[in-house]
Amino acid sequence: SAENAYHYPLLIKNLLLSGKRYQPDQEIVYSDLFRYDYRTLYQRICKLAHVLTDAGVEPGDTVALMDWDSHRYLEAYFAVPMIGAILHHVNVRLSPDQIQYTMDHAEDKLVLVHDDFVAIAEQLSTDLPHVTGFIQLTDEDQPVTTSLNVLGEYETLLKGASDQYEFPDFDENSVATLFYTTGTTGNPKGVYFSHRQLVLHTLNGAATLGLYDGQPMLRSDDVYMPMTPMFHVHAWGVPYIATLLGVKQVYPGRYEPNKLVKLYRDESVTFSHGVPTVLQMILNCEEAKTTDMTGWKMVTGGSAPTLALAQQMAEKGILFHTAYGMSETCPLLTTTYLPAAARELDMVDQMPLRIKTGVPNAMVDLRIVDPAGNEVPHDGEAVGEVVVRAPWLTQGYYKEPEKGAELWQNGWLHTGDVASMDEASVLEIKDRIKDVIKTGGEWISSIELESLISQHPLVSEVAVVGVPDEKWGERAFAMIVPAAGNTVDADAIQAHLQQFVDSGRINKWAIPEKISVVSEIPKTSVGKLNKKVIRQRYSG
Ligand code: ADP
Repeated sequence: SAENAYHYPLLIKNLLLSGKRYQPDQEIVYSDLFRYDYRTLYQRICKLAHVLTDAGVEPGDTVALMDWDSHRYLEAYFAVPMIGAILHHVNVRLSPDQIQYTMDHAEDKLVLVHDDFVAIAEQLSTDLPHVTGFIQLTDEDQPVTTSLNVLGEYETLLKGASDQYEFPDFDENSVATLFYTTGTTGNPKGVYFSHRQLVLHTLNGAATLGLYDGQPMLRSDDVYMPMTPMFHVHAWGVPYIATLLGVKQVYPGRYEPNKLVKLYRDESVTFSHGVPTVLQMILNCEEAKTTDMTGWKMVTGGSAPTLALAQQMAEKGILFHTAYGMSETCPLLTTTYLPAAARELDMVDQMPLRIKTGVPNAMVDLRIVDPAGNEVPHDGEAVGEVVVRAPWLTQGYYKEPEKGAELWQNGWLHTGDVASMDEASVLEIKDRIKDVIKTGGEWISSIELESLISQHPLVSEVAVVGVPDEKWGERAFAMIVPAAGNTVDADAIQAHLQQFVDSGRINKWAIPEKISVVSEIPKTSVGKLNKKVIRQRYSG
């Protein structure tokens, strides 16, 4: 009918229409191994779609991918959902048991597996009853030999496939992607996103990153390289945004700081994003010493950047933005947007504002509520839980409706984050509810303490958690990595914090009584501070 003819579903395939039109010759680069243009990208997506359907993948099936960041990952971001199947981004940094749990729970049918993960796949394969076959991904002339039921090697299979594919229209609410939260408590939980949600997230991301607050973050003549893995929340959705705009894209393979900095230089990268710990590694690596990073546009998020990290980046000339989101939210919710007056300041003076979590993106309805569900005033002081509504939030947890009911209450997704908002709508994440330190009847933000401790010149990395205390209920405990070649002790840190007590910024019982100096702080599979393990280390 005429009505049907008018209907244009929001499908991932339609994100591919524009990039190759704007910049047909623009490159997709894989480390120092592979490069091709946008026309070829489209042909390879068609070829992959044939390979998948020939392997028996049908609409609604789940296809798992175990790879580092690569051109293949980008191709799968498109080809798998475009044939109506679901792409499971396997978090290859989880423990083998957790990987098995996620792949079994997702009912993965076909697995695309890079050589580096073949050993894990072999170990798990007897416990993956839904898997019918594997496709091997290799960076060498020959893939590693394996006992897995391999249908073929990726490049060889692609070579044999037609470069044209008639991608069908279907319901825009079909699930396109699925992945699992890092599961620092209990089993990982699956979150999932539809074509419609990813398309809207992409359009929103392009609009947000194209906003001008002194510097547009991402335009079609930028060069993009992720430093948040593609298996983690769609690399924040940027590969889809970059493809829509026809941006040159550089995929680095396995993350290694010196290699990332070399690629940044050799490929003239202009835009990246990463969690603070990864950015810290980038700044500290050998290659960084001899590399001019002026003008590198960087979005950080995933956890709070410390002021010290932000200042180091400013000194390197990096243009620093912050974003906030979570696995459950696709992820983008808020991004740095500076009021006109703040743009006039020196970069170093902009940093205290830039490390806040930015302003809600277009179409994002974000509120901060007290336990009764009432909004708190936007005065930069009052705190409450962040709750949100937006077109791209997971509907619940995959096959676990009871857990989804906790996430969604009264029509709002509950983030579990405590924050304040000021009059200019700038959000400041204070902490996760479960990480707030409840001491002497006061709430102390572990993030704020980390930021204050990080300002001590001899501190390179710091994590703060609450630990049980008979007198105070909880007390702050800090773990510190001294700056390279230096030592630092608890007294020095406590003396450093005393100035913030004197100035009224924190209470005296916020000063950690116990401080342990270590060579490394435990991290999660995506490189965030692992506060659960840190608490265990304290008691154990
Ligand atoms: P995990 O819970 O395993 O870290 P997510 O990537 O989903 O997995 O983490 C989302 C959480 O990270 C948010 O709920 C919030 O607590 C924290 N977070 C994300 N971005 C920021 C930011 N810019 N500042 C402070 N915290 C952040």
